[in-house]
Amino acid sequence: MRSMKVNGIAVATAVVACSWLSFLAPTSNAQNFDFFYLVMQWPPAFCNQPGARCKPRIPRTFTIHGMWPQTNSGGSPQDCPGAVPDVRRSGQVDEATLGLMDRQWPNLKRVRRGNGNSQFWTYEWNKHGTCSGWSLQSYFRATVDRASGVDLLRELRSNGIQPDNQLYARNRFRNALGRYSAVISCNNVRRRRTISKQIHEIWLCVHKDGSRIFPCARGTRFRNCGGGAIVFSS
Ligand code: 5GP
Repeated sequence: MRSMKVNGIAVATAVVACSWLSFLAPTSNAQNFDFFYLVMQWPPAFCNQPGARCKPRIPRTFTIHGMWPQTNSGGSPQDCPGAVPDVRRSGQVDEATLGLMDRQWPNLKRVRRGNGNSQFWTYEWNKHGTCSGWSLQSYFRATVDRASGVDLLRELRSNGIQPDNQLYARNRFRNALGRYSAVISCNNVRRRRTISKQIHEIWLCVHKDGSRIFPCARGTRFRNCGGGAIVFSS
């Protein structure tokens, strides 16, 4: 009799534990990842590339490129199940969030019709967002919420770094953005008949639950920035 009672308690405990675990567990799309990179791009540096065809009125503020699941070992899961044909039309992201996305996450490329924002978001969701295991609503809301909490241009300006086509020593960027320990990513720009490196993107680390930006574990790193000074294009 006593052993039946004990077994009953054990079964009940296991059922409760299982249902709690299934509540905590991410959806079946979720891949193993450790954090996100919130990738902010400097539009002039994207648009001054040879062959780039951008819409007129290039923003002069950092805009969102994407939020990418990452592993601590350097992996980047991509193209998981859950792709959608069109984020805006999916009906899975509320109007308030779409409004914030239109402001903070614009498509920069020229398109035939409309503004192309939803095509850009859809590309980013299908390639990266699907591997978060989150709903579209949670993923896009967390992305705009984290991005709206930072003003990279203001932080650079307050350290004397302006988008004025001048060269700045790498350490100026390292110091200005030191609290993020971010990845500072460059591309090439033609300047006074030579090729220089220019600031293109800042990759910020976001906790895997989307709740906050934190200093990246590996410290500030430069990606494709060469060894010399870096241009901040206007
Ligand atoms: P990833 O594939 O790693 O998410 O991002 C790289 C791609 O994003 C590149 O092909 C680049 O052209 C694209 N990209 C960056 N900014 C924009 C944008 O504003 N609009 C569109 N449509 N694509 C962009």
